[in-house]
Amino acid sequence: MLTANALSDFRLALGEDRVFADEDARACYASDETPRSVVPDAVLFPVSHEHVVALARLAHQHGVALTPRGAGSGNVGGALPAPGSVVVSFECMRRVIEFDPDNRLIVVEAGVVTEDIDRLARSAGLFYPPDPGSGAYSRIGGNLAMNAAGPRAVKYGVTRDWVLGLRAVTGDGAEIRTGCRTTKGVTGLDLTRLLVGSEGTLALITEATLKLAPAPEAIATLRLCFDSAAHALDAVSRIMRQSVVPCALEFMDERAIDAIRPTGAADDLAPGTRALLMVEADGSSADVPRQIEALQRALEGPGLLEARSGFARDEITRLWTARKSLSHAVKRIAPLKINEDVVVPVTRLSGFVEFIDTTAEALHLPIVSFGHAGNGNLHVNLMVHPDDPDEMTRAHAALDAIMSRVLELGGTLSGEHGIGTEKRRFVPLEITPPTLALMRAIKQQFDPRGLLNPGKLFPE
Ligand SMILES: Cc1cc2nc3c(=O)[nH]c(=O)nc-3n(C[C@H](O)[C@H](O)[C@H](O)COP(=O)(O)OP(=O)(O)OC[C@H]3O[C@@H](n4cnc5c(N)ncnc54)[C@H](O)[C@@H]3O)c2cc1C
Repeated sequence: MLTANALSDFRLALGEDRVFADEDARACYASDETPRSVVPDAVLFPVSHEHVVALARLAHQHGVALTPRGAGSGNVGGALPAPGSVVVSFECMRRVIEFDPDNRLIVVEAGVVTEDIDRLARSAGLFYPPDPGSGAYSRIGGNLAMNAAGPRAVKYGVTRDWVLGLRAVTGDGAEIRTGCRTTKGVTGLDLTRLLVGSEGTLALITEATLKLAPAPEAIATLRLCFDSAAHALDAVSRIMRQSVVPCALEFMDERAIDAIRPTGAADDLAPGTRALLMVEADGSSADVPRQIEALQRALEGPGLLEARSGFARDEITRLWTARKSLSHAVKRIAPLKINEDVVVPVTRLSGFVEFIDTTAEALHLPIVSFGHAGNGNLHVNLMVHPDDPDEMTRAHAALDAIMSRVLELGGTLSGEHGIGTEKRRFVPLEITPPTLALMRAIKQQFDPRGLLNPGKLFPE
């Protein structure tokens, strides 16, 4: 709860123009991509690491809960303000502190936009591999807190794999530095990996030292039409078994294909297409054709209706724009999207999708599945009308069944979106009580008064 004293102390520490408590400003920061909103008591806009230290110390002293926030593009309620909390928006911390192409690293403040990092890296023949669909506006602090990833994760891994070190502030205002600047380093416990994916519950991340990779010289795209989701996903298994690792391996089911039709990207699909794969290979100009040939060989099999390559650059852009628009495009089916991002072993994908179809049919629910099939990571979207109580009951039954099935198959609840407020109730299904107790003890060390992003990640 924010008292007048605490508000005045925040103003003294950050400056009048960095602390907003008026109704309009608070309303602007009341929600993220989840369909819920909680108006915070105030919004703080730090511009430096020192500001973050000061505000964390004051919050600790006054007992004020803090909700860290990047761009608010998260879809599990991670940046949804806890009632009575103050939002800490990192959007004004946008400095590139150091760009060192020779050592393939970049040091950035938490509010730098993800794609800006990639753009700068490419100016020196490098690139930043993590590529969430929201990269044009998401902030690196949000990516770090959620361990975000995108299509390239199948070859290049997730945000966590590209972080060398962090600068951060704990719940009681202690300044910490984790990791190092070199690509090898085993001094001390690996707090970098602990903070990445901690959803703002352990520390406020202020700066990150990120690794960069040499930009691939060439890239080629394949588009595969299949007669069924099961046949497409069997092909995914075949691809992941052979030696050429694609740099993207995306899947769309029939409903997802229908959702991109208005973009024109599905106009020329083979007749009878009920599932689509988008496969890419990157590397040197000499090697990419060899990779594409190997991938094409692995893709051949039952149900393949058409394999198309040799796309013009603008066709590829249209295909990827359509793929990236899916997250919003599916909302045409029904007003509320219950958006899961489960992961199962790739060999179990086809059986899992059959299970989803059976569940959808039995419970009369439209479920749209698409996603990063090469990682076994599917966005399973239950499209519902929130004002229809019967449909909502069926949706919750479907969710319970899907989550249980994911765990039976050796999978995990979330591949990239995280837990936030939305998936807390499922966490005990995957994480054992002693493991959860240890996680809570770690949280207590980082945040003794429990003020950092309360109500997120940990089950009630
Ligand atoms: C259209 C669309 C496409 C998307 N595609 C992808 C995708 O391909 N892959 C993917 O992984 N996600 C995707 N997302 C989800 C989302 O964009 C990511 O989770 C992203 O990392 C969130 O970044 P943000 O800056 O918006 O963070 P926010 O949503 O503002 O915050 C996310 C979490 O990070 C915490 N946080 C933010 N900044 C800090 C900080 N400096 N220190 C500590 N904690 C902090 C917040 O408290 C919150 O818990 C997508 C979302 C949309 C709307």
